Amino acid sequence: MNPQLIFEQAVPVTKPKLPKYANYTETIKGIWNRRWLTNDGPLHQEFKTKLERTLKVPFAELFTNGHLALEIAIKSLGLKGEVITTPFTFASTIHAISNCGLTPVFCDIDRETLNIDPDEIEKHITSETSAIAAVHVFGTPCNVYKIEKIAQKHGLKVIYDAAHAFGVELDGKGIGNFGDISMFSLHATKVFHSIEGGLLTFSDDSFSPKLKALKNFGITSPESVDYIGTNAKMNEFQAAMGLCNLEELQADIAAREAAYQAYVSVFQEMDSVRFLQGYSNIKANYSYFPVLFESKNVRDQMFEILKKYNVLARKYFYPLCNDFSCYNADSSNTPVAKEVSDSVLCLPMFSDLGDVKARQIAEIINYELGDKIGG
Ligand SMILES: *Cc1c(COP(=O)(O)O)cnc(C)c1O
Repeated sequence: MNPQLIFEQAVPVTKPKLPKYANYTETIKGIWNRRWLTNDGPLHQEFKTKLERTLKVPFAELFTNGHLALEIAIKSLGLKGEVITTPFTFASTIHAISNCGLTPVFCDIDRETLNIDPDEIEKHITSETSAIAAVHVFGTPCNVYKIEKIAQKHGLKVIYDAAHAFGVELDGKGIGNFGDISMFSLHATKVFHSIEGGLLTFSDDSFSPKLKALKNFGITSPESVDYIGTNAKMNEFQAAMGLCNLEELQADIAAREAAYQAYVSVFQEMDSVRFLQGYSNIKANYSYFPVLFESKNVRDQMFEILKKYNVLARKYFYPLCNDFSCYNADSSNTPVAKEVSDSVLCLPMFSDLGDVKARQIAEIINYELGDKIGG
C-alpha cells in the first residue's frame, strides 16, 4: 500500500449526472399547467426530435427504459427460433431475447474490440437462426459492415444493443444508423440519461406505428388493439431530465475524455495493463474505462486492493451471460469471452471524475503491479 494515494472519499465506478436544479424545475413547471404527465406529451415530443438530431438518425421512438425498448425491438421484427449474440454483455441483452420466446446462441468475441467476432458468427447459423443481436460493448462500434454482409447473405435481421454507445459515430454516421434497429439506454448510470429511459433508432419509418402501439398495450386507435403490447412509455418528468442533460452533453463527454487521457498517459507506459485503443474513424463517448490484466488472479487481487484505496472498480462484465445459472450454456465454447471476462475491470469513469483522480487511480495500479502482485 502507498498511504499517500488513498482517497479520503470513496470513488465510485460511475455517478449519475444531474443538471442544474433550477434548470430542471423550470423545465417541469409547464407540466403543472398542462396536466399532461405521460403518453406522448410535449416534452416527450421535443426530446424525441432533439435526440434524432443529436444522434444523426432519421427516426427514433422513446421508451421507459432500455430493456423494454430492446424487447419491443425484437418483437417488432417478428423473429422466430434462434438469435446469435454475445455472452460478453449485460444480462438485459440475453433476457430480452429469451423473454421474447427466442433462444440466445452465444458467439465468441473479438479480443481487440470485445464485441461479437464477425468471423465466428457463420458457424452458429442454422435453419432456425432469424437474427443477430450484437452489442457495441463499452461504446466501441461492432464491425457493422461485416455483420451486414453476413445478415444479407443469410437473410437475417440485425439488432444492435447500443446501450453504451450514445453519441458514438462511425465514419461520420451516427451509430444508430446501422442494422434494422438500435437500442440506446438512457439509464442514470449511462453517459447520457433521463433517469430511466430507452430509445430505439431505425431507418425504416414503417416501424413507427408498430413501436408506438407496442409500448402502449398494442392500442392502435381508440377502438382497436392490434398487437399484444406492454406498457413501456416514457413520461414527461423523464423527458424533462433528458432535455436538461442534453444541454450539457458535449461538456460531459469532453470531461470524460480528459479523464480517459489521464488514465492513458500512465497505462501507455505499462506492459501489464491493456486498455481499449481509440480508432481514427470513430467518434468516441468515453462511457467506460475497462482495463485487462494478465490473469484472473491479478484482476481479483487488484479489485480488492483498489477497495483499500477507496476506489470502487467493477468486474464488468463478469460473470459471462453463458455462465448464468438461468441459462443452460457452456462458456468454454466462447474462450476469448471467458478470458476477457476473467481479466477485465472497469475503473471509475463519469463526467466529474476529473483528470487528477484518474491519474491517481492509474498510479495506484502502476505502483501495486510494480510492487507485489503475482500472476
Ligand atoms: C444498461 C444496459 C441495458 C439496459 O438498459 P436499461 O435502460 O437499464 O433498461 C441493456 N444492455 C446493456 C449492454 C446495458 O449496459
